[in-house]
Amino acid sequence: MEELVALCKSRGFIFQSNEIYGGLQGLYDYGPLGVELKNNIKQAWWRSMVYERDDIEGLDASILTNPKVLKYSGHEETFSDPLIDCRSCKSRWRADHLDSQKCPSCGSEDLTEPRPFNLMFKTNVGPIDDGSSFAYLRPETAQQIFINFKNVLDSTSRKLPFGIAQIGKAFRNEITPRNFIFRVREFEQMELEFFVKQGEDEAWHKEWLDRRLEWWYAQGVSKENLEIYTVPKEELSHYSKSTLDIMYKFPHGLEELEGIANRTDFDLGSHSKNQNELNITSKVDENTDSNAKLAVQNLENNKWEVPYVIEPSAGVERGFLAILNEAYNKETLAGGKERVVLSFKPHLAPIKAAVIPLKRNNDELVKKSQKVKNSLQSLQLGRVLIENSGNIGKSYRRHDEIGTPLCVTVDFQTLEDNTVTVRDRDTMEQTRIDTKDLVSYYQNYLLT
Ligand code: ATP
Repeated sequence: MEELVALCKSRGFIFQSNEIYGGLQGLYDYGPLGVELKNNIKQAWWRSMVYERDDIEGLDASILTNPKVLKYSGHEETFSDPLIDCRSCKSRWRADHLDSQKCPSCGSEDLTEPRPFNLMFKTNVGPIDDGSSFAYLRPETAQQIFINFKNVLDSTSRKLPFGIAQIGKAFRNEITPRNFIFRVREFEQMELEFFVKQGEDEAWHKEWLDRRLEWWYAQGVSKENLEIYTVPKEELSHYSKSTLDIMYKFPHGLEELEGIANRTDFDLGSHSKNQNELNITSKVDENTDSNAKLAVQNLENNKWEVPYVIEPSAGVERGFLAILNEAYNKETLAGGKERVVLSFKPHLAPIKAAVIPLKRNNDELVKKSQKVKNSLQSLQLGRVLIENSGNIGKSYRRHDEIGTPLCVTVDFQTLEDNTVTVRDRDTMEQTRIDTKDLVSYYQNYLLT
């Protein structure tokens, strides 16, 4: 983990947030390469969910949430972790994360009994701060999908089964954020709520587990590092009938990467008016003052039914960490030299290609490099940059270390015959290519 953290900082993937003022715990900022990798992960998810399927719509809803939403969703009452205080050193711990009855900080056994600590952040909305005008920062993106169910249904005429996908920030006031970006207080979720008929829920739950595993493999996460954990009944969230967690062998241990829950009709039912007419199977709070009926009409018997929901919910940061961990390799080359290489799948690489003028600040070479760069960039397959450092060996090493799949060197021969050298990150092989063939070479490389 230390090596990954150091690389992330030195190469501009991840910085500690608010660092110049001493930081703010549990928050991280994503630098020039981090933002590219994060965007690429999110795009890959969006493509597989929204573009490559015909039964899913997208959504981008607000973060600030009316407290009633989180009241009737059950979060106000139950979205908490057990908190323990150390009376000696005043540190605070999550009870279920302690290995023993001792304070991990000072070793004291003088600990309080665990008490529930609600993880939701509150903020004031509007100019008057009288305690009644507050909103929550959403602790999951899911609730906004549920409360927009009817909007999406009415505007798209969808029939069951169909899904709504959303990527966005979520906030949890974690008692002990830790393990780098694994557990943080501000993070992004990639969530799908897939609405199905009751009775078809269990088959869809299995189906989504398979689909999501395939997706992780396609991002370069190896089978050997993934495990499925069936969450035992007593550990299930209040809304879940059954949850399958995709666990990953992170550098600090085996932990949850993505949760796939069968949320039944709990959420849509909780947010619906006239619940007694809807035949809801879950135990929901009947006092909701929502004005919506989040249900679909069964055309065979004209009855309104609340769909069941299967929810694959993945954290972008945990995905980032897993993908980075998989990509990180230290190799010993002939002659005993070591190279660090990030072997990202090409579609995830933060920089797709670096164009390197052989001689630094040589006008002709830089001008030609700019042309080559523009031709590759115009395909819009991701970021291409010019590496005008003048030292070819160093440039290759730097781009291995940040996972750039291709380096294109423009030298004096290029000025004569329009050929460039293309170096492959993984094989380190170098090929001389005519610039008129370069665009298709690059396109094939990235798209196959
Ligand atoms: P954990 O048990 O690890 O706290 P959880 O079961 O509370 O996670 P979910 O509510 O199922 O997590 O959230 C779905 C996904 O969101 C998780 O699988 C994870 O990838 C991500 N996630 C949840 N909490 C955090 C966090 N504090 N920091 C980063 N990612 C998170």
